Amino acid sequence: MRTPLLLMATIFCQLAATAQVDSLHAYRIQQFHHLALGENYGYQQLVALANDVGPRLAGSEGGAKGVTWSIATMKRLGLDTVFTQEVQVPHWERGAQERGVIWHGKERIAIPTTALGGSVGTPEKGLRGKVVEITDFKQLDLLGEKQLKGKIVFFNIPMNPNFINTGFAYGQAVRQRWAGAIEASKYGAKAVIIRSVTLRQDDNPHTGSMSYAGVKDSIPAAAISTNAANQLSKLLKDNSNIEFELWMACQHHGMVTSHTVIGELRGSVHPEQYLVVGGHLDSWDLGDGSQDDGAGIMHALEVAHLYTKLGIRPKRTLRVVFFQNEEFGLQGGRRYAELADSLNENHYFAIESDMGSGIPRGFSFDTNSERVAKIGKTVGPYFEPYSIYEFKSGGSGADLSPLNKDKILLAGLRPESQRYFDYHHSVLDHISSVHPREFALGAAALASMVYLIDQLDLAD
Ligand SMILES: [Zn+2]
Repeated sequence: MRTPLLLMATIFCQLAATAQVDSLHAYRIQQFHHLALGENYGYQQLVALANDVGPRLAGSEGGAKGVTWSIATMKRLGLDTVFTQEVQVPHWERGAQERGVIWHGKERIAIPTTALGGSVGTPEKGLRGKVVEITDFKQLDLLGEKQLKGKIVFFNIPMNPNFINTGFAYGQAVRQRWAGAIEASKYGAKAVIIRSVTLRQDDNPHTGSMSYAGVKDSIPAAAISTNAANQLSKLLKDNSNIEFELWMACQHHGMVTSHTVIGELRGSVHPEQYLVVGGHLDSWDLGDGSQDDGAGIMHALEVAHLYTKLGIRPKRTLRVVFFQNEEFGLQGGRRYAELADSLNENHYFAIESDMGSGIPRGFSFDTNSERVAKIGKTVGPYFEPYSIYEFKSGGSGADLSPLNKDKILLAGLRPESQRYFDYHHSVLDHISSVHPREFALGAAALASMVYLIDQLDLAD
């Protein structure tokens, strides 16, 4: 074991020694890290957001409180400008009654159940039916209306544990959540229940948005915990007459006005060019949304704090953007891009943090791999002391996706992903799941990338 490690250490030192590193920039990046780890302003604001506001579902009272809180917090930080962009967001309420029960003969088993965001409710007395398990969407066609009409379709498609990046596994499994009701209703199903989209085995159901796009019958859609999904699947193997009963009181109340919140730190050389650093202000309602995406917006706010506290002016105008309603319609991101376009704003670079508060592993850039390799080669040596090595071509963030990626370099912070979906959209998405030092490292990494792109003109 000793020789390979020693060899690796030697290669590492040689790399560091030969790399082109400007000592002022390296020093700034060290300052970002020291200040973030030492003071952890962003984490303190995240604690305040969790305690003073809590869950921030767009359109809800908590959502509105989040907007007011964010404006006040940005103003306190002493940014040059703080303003909002108005957006229309859906007002959907979960309601109090939310229960699921397996009927196994005369035995009644209570099941941890949560309505999917946007679902219609059940009749007040509940809804009961035989269950048909689906482990692949293709089975719907094979079973057809004959076997699905009047049934409750149970989508039991686990996240694939073999992906090292859990985001890929999520991307594959999440279709059952957003399209399950659409597909099952085509065959006359009366409701759908889905396996919670998480790798963790526990009793916490995970919510998330679902859609009825293009179907005439809106059927209720709920998630059950992974433990419950395994239990139900096992029971169905022995007895196909198992029934499920569901009560949900969720309701739509139309559209309401909400806001994206923006703060600016004016650039010293090209104030007319923008560097966007953002996340989304809204969250789901089961936890307090500290991971998704409280961590992301506080990472972004910490970037502005690090600049102001250290007395550094960006060359271009730094825009901290708390996008409204990523979870439930992407209205904030869409409106931002529309306005950027109609006002002819000159965006140079935009980066989002929306993958939680874990240890930063690297960055993903929404551009071709040759360009990413070039950027990685330049910035890599600066990130090496902080154990950040990943510079990949890929997505940026949902809120940035409506921006024109042919004109603007878009990127996303990529933290360690193993635990993220344990919390995601569940009661476990809570401030207690955020590790202060891991959070601080993420904020410092974000600030360092923004700084290097700006100083070295890497998005030209
Ligand atoms: Zn998110």
